[in-house]
Amino acid sequence: MTTPALWSAQAHMPSVIGRQIQVVSAKGSYLTTDTGAKLFDGTASLWYANIGHGREEMAKVAYEQMKTLESYHVFGRYTNDRALALAETLVSMAPIDDAKVILNSGGSDSIDVALKLVRRYWNQMGHTSKRVVISREHSYHGLHAYGTSVAGLDFNREGYGTDSLVDGTERIDKHSTVAFAEAIDRIGAENIAAYIAEPVMGTGGVHPPHEGYFAEIQRLCHENDILFIADEVITGFGRTGAMFASTRYALQPDIITFAKGVTSGYAALGGIFVAPRVWQPFFELGAASPVYRHGTTYSGHPVTAALAMKNLEIIEREGLVERSAALERVLAGELSAIESHELVATTRVGGFLGAIELHDEVQAEWVTDQILDLGFITRPLRGNSVQISPPFITTDQEVRDLVNGVRHVLDDIRSGKA
Ligand code: PLP
Repeated sequence: MTTPALWSAQAHMPSVIGRQIQVVSAKGSYLTTDTGAKLFDGTASLWYANIGHGREEMAKVAYEQMKTLESYHVFGRYTNDRALALAETLVSMAPIDDAKVILNSGGSDSIDVALKLVRRYWNQMGHTSKRVVISREHSYHGLHAYGTSVAGLDFNREGYGTDSLVDGTERIDKHSTVAFAEAIDRIGAENIAAYIAEPVMGTGGVHPPHEGYFAEIQRLCHENDILFIADEVITGFGRTGAMFASTRYALQPDIITFAKGVTSGYAALGGIFVAPRVWQPFFELGAASPVYRHGTTYSGHPVTAALAMKNLEIIEREGLVERSAALERVLAGELSAIESHELVATTRVGGFLGAIELHDEVQAEWVTDQILDLGFITRPLRGNSVQISPPFITTDQEVRDLVNGVRHVLDDIRSGKA
């Protein structure tokens, strides 16, 4: 048997061989495959193609930047003008006052950088026992070793001979503030470095926070001197109808992780915002300031930085954050209408990202395959749910068509046609 050279991500390879969907080009909200099929990108790829695919002006920025300075690193004394400019722009829009920004190559990187930093910070402050990171069941924080360890998707932690690749992780019920208080009592505040959460849980099935949840979590963090990290890798840069979900949900994080929407996927970029409390010891102690020994070759890459700047300019110029808020209202209306379908257990919306949770008699994975045949890409999420999160340039009608596609498939199953 011949097998493909490319080992795909998160794939059971024997099952995908011969069934791969090979995307060859894309424009706006639509993709074209090697067989000529035109597909609506109902998930904005992996929740990131926010400004839509195939923008000429993005391609031009990359071309111009490569001619001027294709790459130079930001280690030690070196930096480059694009990284500096992007950092200024980012901190001017950050939902943390007087933030610093660290740049890297994606969401998983950002999680590693953030979680290493909180441990490094507490160590520097003399609280050497503060090492445990508390996270939520069903959360997703990427698949590097730290993210795999803190995340609450058990299947991603199976098969390594240990429950956690990195020590000091604890997971609690995703909606319960009591569970957090109990964890603090059990572990001891003197041993807890940070609490991390996605403001709207994405891969875990699209779960927006319950009223008052984060206010109480933040109160407990404050009272117990636990750093609060908002993982805005999906929600950052407009997905919840505000530039950051931290603003929408009144969060005051000490660190925010971001990626995806910062370039809308035109380049691999992630980063973290750091509040003064955490960055000050590294900047302002003079000779006694420690070095945060982190960085990767492409941290602050000038081409990705230039693309991020142009992406942010497009979001601003075209009012795409406001558009995302308007699209959330359309999606919410459509999902509440489909909720009465016999095969639908419930639906959830938290910004322009939504999920349709199905009853057990029908598998989300199978349903997404059927919807694909109608020309729409959706994705199965944890909890037998179907993900809907198109680009922000999507029309109201396209949102309706997509949800109608789901309804059509469910009707066919109900009537025994599928
Ligand atoms: N954090 C969250 C909330 C995510 O949804 C993701 C990816 O989907 C990540 C982290 C990891 O990002 P990346 O896949 O860019 O490494």
